[in-house]
Amino acid sequence: MPDTGWKVEVLMPGSWRGATSVLLSQGQHHLVVDTGLPHEAHQLVRSLERKGLRPEDVEVVVNTHFHVDHVLNNCLFPRAAIYATQESYDWCCSLYSDLRDDRNWEQLSLKYYPELLDYEEARQRMAGLRKFALRWWKAERLGERSRFHWMETEGLPDALDFLVTAGHVPGHVSILAPSQGSTTVIAGDALLTREDDQQVLTMIPCNREQFARDRERILSLGGIIVPGHDHQFSTPSNAAANSREEKTGAKDPQSR
Ligand SMILES: [Zn+2]
Repeated sequence: MPDTGWKVEVLMPGSWRGATSVLLSQGQHHLVVDTGLPHEAHQLVRSLERKGLRPEDVEVVVNTHFHVDHVLNNCLFPRAAIYATQESYDWCCSLYSDLRDDRNWEQLSLKYYPELLDYEEARQRMAGLRKFALRWWKAERLGERSRFHWMETEGLPDALDFLVTAGHVPGHVSILAPSQGSTTVIAGDALLTREDDQQVLTMIPCNREQFARDRERILSLGGIIVPGHDHQFSTPSNAAANSREEKTGAKDPQSR
């Protein structure tokens, strides 16, 4: 890999209602991390066009996890190898399948979100996710299964590194892209927004304590962070971040 590392560009900025999609480039070699919802397909293609690229030019797609807002334009990239964890794939496919059960979906959802009833308005949040899933989830939009590569066994191409950040959903990953002497963390939904994760229209963490640890770990790395549902931002250097972590280390993660 060249010393300059990766050029990191946001294709679709994340917001309370849509997930971030990121382009990683090294010369003529291009990867896309997360691909958005079907109605965002035109925006994604236009954003690539503005950089002089066609979907055919993208060689690798990486999915941080399989929530609908991160994966449903994988099918736009006809040549791309698709990297993700099998754990996240299996978990989300099974969840969406169970949510189709008209009679038992609420009970079944506790299998996936055992802490659900600890949350206010838990039922409404799950009903919202269900509506989303029934409307949008279509396996053919994920790309052909023959193009999938499971990160548990294959890792990522180009010596890219990643963290398993499983508080949001099992098998969730955050991507670490070395770029110009620093590291850019493409956090996915392990870090939803810079300040206030409550505002985002996505699901509760499947494990709230782990989710809080994932967020702290990402913030402690130093460098640039691209959240799953917010604009990118810089964090202090590692030294400053580590001292901040020591000061806040004893804090109850659930109080945040
Ligand atoms: Zn998510």
